[in-house]
Amino acid sequence: MTDITSLTLTQTLAALKDKKLSKEELNKAYLERIKKLNPSLNAFLFVNEDSGEIPVAIKDLISVKDMPMTCGSKILENYIPPYNATVIDRLASQGVSFCGKTNLDEFAMGSSGENSAYGPAKNPWNLVKVPGGSSSGSAVAVAADMAVFALGTDTGGSIRQPASLCGVVGLKPSYGRVSRYGAQAMASSLDQIGPITKSVADARLVLEWISGGGGHDSNCHAKPFVTLSETKGIYSSASPQNDRMLKEIKVGVPKEYFGKGLDSEVEKVIRDAIKKLGDLGAEIVEVALPHTEYAVAAYYIIMASEVSANLARYDGIRFGKNRDQFGDEAKRRIMLGTFSLSSGYYDAYFTKAARVRTLIKKDFDIAFEKCDVIVGPVSPTVAWNLGGKINDPLTMYLSDAYTIPGSLTGIPGLSVPCGFADGMPVGLQILGKHMDEETVLNVGEIYENVTDWKDKKPNMSS
Ligand code: GLN
Repeated sequence: MTDITSLTLTQTLAALKDKKLSKEELNKAYLERIKKLNPSLNAFLFVNEDSGEIPVAIKDLISVKDMPMTCGSKILENYIPPYNATVIDRLASQGVSFCGKTNLDEFAMGSSGENSAYGPAKNPWNLVKVPGGSSSGSAVAVAADMAVFALGTDTGGSIRQPASLCGVVGLKPSYGRVSRYGAQAMASSLDQIGPITKSVADARLVLEWISGGGGHDSNCHAKPFVTLSETKGIYSSASPQNDRMLKEIKVGVPKEYFGKGLDSEVEKVIRDAIKKLGDLGAEIVEVALPHTEYAVAAYYIIMASEVSANLARYDGIRFGKNRDQFGDEAKRRIMLGTFSLSSGYYDAYFTKAARVRTLIKKDFDIAFEKCDVIVGPVSPTVAWNLGGKINDPLTMYLSDAYTIPGSLTGIPGLSVPCGFADGMPVGLQILGKHMDEETVLNVGEIYENVTDWKDKKPNMSS
């Protein structure tokens, strides 16, 4: 069997079931590819040569028992967790093993991968470009076929944005859908673990595998996501059901996601994708999300406040290493968060940001009275050059303007490849109602099935 590593998860499972492929061949093919490509891509910080089941890559801030976990930081350089995250136990029970831990911005703080203490991962579509962040290594590993799928975490866009910039599928589940137990906390009221995959069908299946509580995350719903799709995520592109389903769907387009800052080439690709949804029978309606412009500011107060509390444990007393091991971005956010929470400023900053968060949530509640999903760009631009924004944190923060509102609201969001601008991939963002991943995945999968973007692969031969 040729081209083992380009198979999606559902195709890999079918090939294993039909005995067209053995687990040994599968792991050998992936390990060879990791060894060949990782020196140039820097996607993996640790490679497990003993992966014997379906080889999956895990963002290096999710605990896998007895495998090193750095969180992209020097402060945890030699840390080996003694326990599995809930999602890891769930995947292991499905016949998955872990081929390695992937590179990330330090403690998941960043949008380009460049805040990793171990050097940035590179975008496989063009090695001088950023892969996006913070789940940079996970997106690169999937885009370059170095893993069947990967897990990332999304606090303000860290699954959707690198998926968009690397041309793969990324799903941020609803807040409370997947247990956060065993993932290093960045901002606890925002963090979610989710899949980065080669197809929407794969994202649906992985969500079924990882969702549901394990008793250690009191915000997590106990019941796992079970898709209503009779086909269990495996549609055929010719299925008449696809057509029927989009005819029942109202797709909201917020004008605030098409304003200043959106690259005109990216806008064209996104508008074409929306037109395609209309051609498939969906009703396109305009919606308003009037508080969008305040989302980045509110997020950077709320997120940094929670970061300052969560990272306080690395005080140099318990884990040996000193706080001077933190990188610049971690220090910047710890200081900003500590300031926002200090007694004289709490009301002016944290309380105000929390109020803005409520207004943003209300915007979505009102918009979802008129539509089933909201679509727009994931990122205002395609991947930029390494080094291009790293000395300008505010410009970097603004690149998350379209992912952050959904994060503050806790709703699910999917990035689906929908074309190219300047030779680099563009992702369509599909946001849904809280806990309605089903509709988000259906729209994404129907779109994916009538286009061939998911079959486009970066040329890694040179
Ligand atoms: N890029 C955003 C940030 O820097 C989001 C990070 C994330 O989702 N983990 O905070």
